[in-house]
Amino acid sequence: MIFDSHCHPQFPEYDQGRDEVIKRAQAAGVKMICVGTNLENSQQAIELAEKYPENIWATVGIHPNEKIENWNLKIENLRMLAQHPKVVAIGECGLDYYRIKNNDRVGHYIEIKEKQKELFLAQIKIAQEVKKPLMIHCRPTKGTDDAYEDLLSILKSIDFVNQYIVVHFFVGGVGMAKKLLDLGCYFTFGGVITFARDYDEVIKFLPLENILLETDAPYVAPVPYRGQSNEPVYVIEVAKKTAEIKNISFDRVIEQIAVNTRQVFRI
Ligand SMILES: [Zn+2]
Repeated sequence: MIFDSHCHPQFPEYDQGRDEVIKRAQAAGVKMICVGTNLENSQQAIELAEKYPENIWATVGIHPNEKIENWNLKIENLRMLAQHPKVVAIGECGLDYYRIKNNDRVGHYIEIKEKQKELFLAQIKIAQEVKKPLMIHCRPTKGTDDAYEDLLSILKSIDFVNQYIVVHFFVGGVGMAKKLLDLGCYFTFGGVITFARDYDEVIKFLPLENILLETDAPYVAPVPYRGQSNEPVYVIEVAKKTAEIKNISFDRVIEQIAVNTRQVFRI
C-alpha cells in the first residue's frame, strides 16, 4: 500500500476517464488524498471520497492564487465543508509569491500579499476549529525564501495543539527545512524529484518520518512518464526515487510513508 498525499483526481483533466485513473491507482494499491483548491473542486473532492471510501480522502481549501473576491462568503462555505467526515485536512492554502507578476505595480504586489495572508489565516482558523491538519502551498519568489519566511512567522505566531502541518512540494533549502522541521512540519515531494537534482540534499537531510509523497497529478509527471498526463499511480516512481536518494530500500520507504500518512491525516 502506498499513499499519494496530494493529488487532484477531481480536476477537469480527468473528465474523460476519471474512474479508470482511480482504478489504476486502486489496482496498484495507491491511496489518495484528493486536494481542493477552491470551493467547487473541494466539494468535488468530497464527492470522490464518498464514492471511493477505501481509497480516497478529501481536503478542502482555497489556493492563494484563486481570485479572492467575496472571500468572506467563501470562507463561511469552506467552514461548512471542513466539517465533513471525509475531509482530512484544510488546504491547499498558503502563500504564493512566485506567480505574482513582477511587472505589477508595487502597491498592488503588497496588496496581493496581504490578501493571501488574510485568506491563509482564515483557513488556519478553520483548521483549528475542526482540529484537522493544514495542507500548505507555499512558493517563494524565484531565488528567495520570502514566502517561507512569512510562513514561518505566521506558524510561529499561532498555537498549534496536536495539529499536523504539511508543507506541500517543498522547494526550499536545508536551512529553511530545518526551521520548519523544528516546528514539527511534514514535507511532501513529487514527480519533480525524479528528474531535477535540486531536492536531493533536502530529502537526504529530512528524517523519513517527516516526509510524505505526492504526485500533484494532473501536473508534472515523473520519469519515465514525463510529458504524459500524470496520475496518482505514478507515486510509485516518486517512492523509488526517494529510496535511491536516501539510500534505503523501497519497502522501507513505502512502509514509513504509510505510517506517516495515516498519522497525519488520521486515516
Ligand atoms: Zn496541488
